[in-house]
Amino acid sequence: MKPNREPGLETRAVHGPHVGAPGAMSTPIVHSATFSFETLDGMVEAQNQASAGSFYQRQGHPTIHAVEERLAALEGAEDALLFPSGMAAISSAFMSLLCCGDHVVCVDPCYGGTQALLQWGKDHFGWDHTFVDSRRPETWAAAFRHNTRLLHLESPINPTLVCFDIVAAARLGHDKGAVVSIDNTIASPIGQQPLSLGCDLALYSATKSLGGHSDLLAGVATGSRARLAALYEVRKTFGPIADPTMAWMLERSLKTLPLRVRAGNANALELARRLTDHADVAQVFYPGLPSHASHAIARQQMKEGFGPLLGFEVRGGADAALRVVNALRVIRHGASLGGVE
Ligand code: PLP
Repeated sequence: MKPNREPGLETRAVHGPHVGAPGAMSTPIVHSATFSFETLDGMVEAQNQASAGSFYQRQGHPTIHAVEERLAALEGAEDALLFPSGMAAISSAFMSLLCCGDHVVCVDPCYGGTQALLQWGKDHFGWDHTFVDSRRPETWAAAFRHNTRLLHLESPINPTLVCFDIVAAARLGHDKGAVVSIDNTIASPIGQQPLSLGCDLALYSATKSLGGHSDLLAGVATGSRARLAALYEVRKTFGPIADPTMAWMLERSLKTLPLRVRAGNANALELARRLTDHADVAQVFYPGLPSHASHAIARQQMKEGFGPLLGFEVRGGADAALRVVNALRVIRHGASLGGVE
């Protein structure tokens, strides 16, 4: 008897979108940059399938596309595209939407690389941008101009962990005629599904929780077929293409993503609680704590806890903080987040 309900998140994470399909259990890594065809018609057909066609790696590749299908299934999106870094995904998204003379409204703070991208766009492409205070959404409407084409969000924000009402933000962006993108790296598609909250594009540094083992650099864009068709053109034109081995490693990681996200979120919450009770800690920044200004909205829109990232302020100033950091034994000093380490 066929099951009468849709596969759940864990099932999609482990099996991908084609649950129960026979064949290789693990997607083969196809080390071929180009593919051959019996006829020219067959070649044109594969080329016309864009990212889904096995034609030429910069355009469509089977190992890369397998992980894209799994990512779309996890997000509940029509489509997903894989990139060789989070910044490649974010910059391709911006390039797919913005022309010279267009304006962006962007939450502040947001990931530093995104801020650098906006500055680059201003200096080289003729884009303009206005940063809006992530803690004061009531002020955002005033930042929109007649030429605002994009509202870019991030929630929770790296590293302040400020969260805001994504549904209300997306509504505002759409009312103002803008496309709404969000960097959902910290929550991951397990923790928060921004497309269902009204955003048009959900963007990721897959280097973080999606990859989860600090051993690959990757980026992802998910959204509707139409939006991603524009991103696909940017990817094809500028060439930020993933490697098949990386795509396979990412697919392998995705199978355990729900388990890892839940464990990471639970660990972060436990650590945040213990730090709150510590006499030498002045303040803990974690949206899972009822004392955090974003707690209520984070609780409403994050599904599996409050993310793997937290911050805290040590009593005694910078010298005391440095002593704590340098005395850490298990937690290692390094850039990035969301790895099992
Ligand atoms: N977005 C966020 C929230 C990040 O933390 C990072 C990296 O730290 C990026 C984007 C950029 O991702 P990548 O380093 O994979 O290009």
